[in-house]
Amino acid sequence: MPEGDTVWRTAAILRQHLAGRTLTRCDVRVPRFATVNLAGQVVDEVLSRGKHLFIRVGPASIHSHLKMDGSWRVGDRPIRVDHRARIVLEAGAVRAVGVDLGVLEVLARDRDADAVAHLGPDLLGPDWDAARAAANLAARPDRPLAEALLDQRVLAGVGNVYCNELCFVAGHLPTAAVGALAEPHRLVARARDMLWTNRFRWNRCTTGDTRPGRQLWVYGRAGQPCRRCHTRVEYGESSGTGTRVTYWCPVCQR
Ligand SMILES: [Zn+2]
Repeated sequence: MPEGDTVWRTAAILRQHLAGRTLTRCDVRVPRFATVNLAGQVVDEVLSRGKHLFIRVGPASIHSHLKMDGSWRVGDRPIRVDHRARIVLEAGAVRAVGVDLGVLEVLARDRDADAVAHLGPDLLGPDWDAARAAANLAARPDRPLAEALLDQRVLAGVGNVYCNELCFVAGHLPTAAVGALAEPHRLVARARDMLWTNRFRWNRCTTGDTRPGRQLWVYGRAGQPCRRCHTRVEYGESSGTGTRVTYWCPVCQR
């Protein structure tokens, strides 16, 4: 599951290659939109909202969500198009291919915001609202912290990596109730800082130490010593909305 910073960076790369250019090919490989052809239209804008991505082309807006395994590949060189491609866009020598996208739909441009109206404040959005995000987080004090952080209606952009890291820096177990947080606004600020500092990075870092193998506190570190107290990092799987892996330090997190 991608994090919001991955989607933000994907939008930046697509924007760099496509914005201001006229599409010379538009091949939508989703049955419902297979007849849509935006060739001849200009790409005006590419933007992300939480984990949703929009490519605005003339009167239309191509809305995609990477879900579990999706990606966009874009570049000047020929990019492979195989059965996993959901959409192929070309503008002269530039080709962009949306692969295994969890959601791909073509919306009316003036209504595309409806697709993300349910989202909470976007951690990387121009309209980021820390106070509202903190209020959303605190609204249901009995809820498990990890569940609330992953709920895109609370705040938009946190995926499983940041969720685990945020629980660690907050000093609470992922299963702890949100009400245990003394200062929800501080955790929201940490979330914003984490995504913001990583928005250009391919190797995500939450510890401030960018050396290989030192970038994360607990995520992916099952059985390894906690960076703070040297206790072995624990690991578990939780079902619910898709199976999620959880990592925590049993000493640093309560
Ligand atoms: Zn520890």
